[in-house]
Amino acid sequence: MAYDRNNLFAKILRGEIPCNKVYEDEFALAFHDIEPQAPIHVLVLPKGDYVSWADFSATAPPALIAGYVRAVGAVAKQLGLEAPGYRLLANHGADGGQHVPHLHVHLFGGRRLGPMLSKAR
Ligand code: AMP
Repeated sequence: MAYDRNNLFAKILRGEIPCNKVYEDEFALAFHDIEPQAPIHVLVLPKGDYVSWADFSATAPPALIAGYVRAVGAVAKQLGLEAPGYRLLANHGADGGQHVPHLHVHLFGGRRLGPMLSKAR
């Protein structure tokens, strides 16, 4: 899928739409999800035009891949989730329920999160 430079997270990364920022470095931006599904629900985005893990892992510069992964770890630690634990989740495509076509992971924490997926079929 071609990257849409007008997607919501591209606008947030460019500062055109505000966010409740948690962390930023040269590789990544993290901010609170606007509709939190856990006491802590943060989105972590790489700074680059990537929609999917396939595209990102195949074409992003190694420094960006490393920097993004390190940022995810740093955000979890900064939020105090290392000891109690947390969950990372990435939606891709229609079946995955991805709504915003800029690569991101959801970081959830702050309570026991229960089963990994809804049991509804
Ligand atoms: P996904 O469905 O994996 O693409 O996740 C998109 C997420 O973006 C959802 O959890 C939304 O609640 C969240 N979201 C939508 N608009 C905003 C916004 N302006 N600021 C922060 N999070 C947002």
